[in-house]
Amino acid sequence: MTTIDDLISRARAFRSTSFVQKQPLYDQLVRDGQAPKILMIACSDSRVDPSVIFDAEPGQIFMVRNVASLVPPSSPDEGCHGTSAALEFGVRALGVEHVVVLGHGHCGGIDALLDGTKGDDPTSEFIGPWLSCATGVCDQVVEDMPQASHAERARRLEYETVRMSVRNLMTFQWIAERVSKGDLSLHGWHFDIAEGVLSDVGESGDPVRISG
Ligand SMILES: [Zn+2]
Repeated sequence: MTTIDDLISRARAFRSTSFVQKQPLYDQLVRDGQAPKILMIACSDSRVDPSVIFDAEPGQIFMVRNVASLVPPSSPDEGCHGTSAALEFGVRALGVEHVVVLGHGHCGGIDALLDGTKGDDPTSEFIGPWLSCATGVCDQVVEDMPQASHAERARRLEYETVRMSVRNLMTFQWIAERVSKGDLSLHGWHFDIAEGVLSDVGESGDPVRISG
C-alpha cells in the first residue's frame, strides 16, 4: 500500500533525479507550451496508466481519465461536462491529430454497468448516472449473449463501450468536421491488463492485436 509519506518521498526523489535529467524538456514545454499530437480518454483505474503503458514523456499525451473511459454524446447545456471540456480544449485549442479511446480488461466501471448500477445505490450518487450513457449498449450485449458468463459479457461490453465512445466523438461538431477534412483520426483501443496486450477494437467483430 502506498502511503502519503511514500508519495512525498518519491516526489523528492523525482525532483533530484528524473526531473533534473529532463530539465531541458520541461524548460522547452514551459517556454513553448504543450503541443501534444494525441488526446487519450482512459479509465481512472489505477492499474491502467497510459503514461506507463505507452512509456510517454511529458507533453506527449493530452489525457482524460474517467470511470470506464466513456465519451458521452455531445450535449451542450449548463451541466459540468468534464470529459467534453477536455475534448474541446484538446481538439479545438491544441489541435491534436489523434483521439484514442482506451478501454481495458477487468474494468470495475463495466462490471457496475453490467450489474445494473443505475443510481439507486445509496452509496453511489454519481456513478450510475455517469454510466447511464452506455445503458443501451449494455442491454444489447446482454440480449446478444443470453447464455454467456458475466466475464464473457464484460469483455464484450469493454469492446462495445469503446466503440460507442468513438461513435459519440462524432457527435461533437468540431470533431466531425476535422475528421471529415482528414486532419483528425479516431481510434478505439483495448488494453488487457492480464496479458499486457493492446488491441484495436475497430467498428465491429473481433479486436485486432496491436502489441504482443
Ligand atoms: Zn476501468
